[in-house]
Amino acid sequence: MSTSDSRPVAVVVEDDVRIRRFLKATLEQHGFRYIEAENGRRGLLQAASQMPDLVILDLGLPDLDGLEVLRELRSWSAVPILVLSARGQEADKVEALDAGADDYVTKPFGVDELLARMRVALRHSARPGSGSGGGAPEPVVRFGELEVDLEKRLVFVSGREVHLTAIEYRLLATLVRHADKVLTHRQLLAEVWGPHAEFEHQYLRVFMGQLRRKLEPAPARPRWFLTETGVGYRLRTS
Ligand code: CA
Repeated sequence: MSTSDSRPVAVVVEDDVRIRRFLKATLEQHGFRYIEAENGRRGLLQAASQMPDLVILDLGLPDLDGLEVLRELRSWSAVPILVLSARGQEADKVEALDAGADDYVTKPFGVDELLARMRVALRHSARPGSGSGGGAPEPVVRFGELEVDLEKRLVFVSGREVHLTAIEYRLLATLVRHADKVLTHRQLLAEVWGPHAEFEHQYLRVFMGQLRRKLEPAPARPRWFLTETGVGYRLRTS
């Protein structure tokens, strides 16, 4: 490994050697530095030592349950985590998202879909100033005790910084940019997760719940992050 290697680093945690082989070929072909782990403990080690830009995590692992790996990883890292799993029920997806996954791909998956979702995950985690194309600085938006600095990607409640995961931030920023307008489920899903996720309404329930818990004074009675029943969500800023 050389320090001049600027390729994004992907850590793949997967016990199935055929899937690892397939992902290695695919990711390397698309410009990633590929690092693999065949079980959960090794995956956590790799994620800690390699500082990846993205983690692709299987849930059915021989040593730890993938959800444990997810929670452990999320307790100290904001790295985008894409779950790859044969468990395709809505409840499984919600559980993984609740545990800190950014997105969820059900096996068997298509390579185009996987790459599209990886691009979205990486776009979310782009560092401040690296993605906006050098336009005018983005504003700091304040409402109530909340402050969102869209330029520096910082969020404060009553002056105290609140740490959001990449997807939580992306959802918040989307709502802020369309403040006081109703955004439909589809608009939000397409904007935050990409066109593949347009019908994954449970993603929004989970992540809106996370934003409310972190940012609302009384999360059960939202003051800012409003549900527009059957339609979508609206950020109220006054
Ligand atoms: Ca497996």
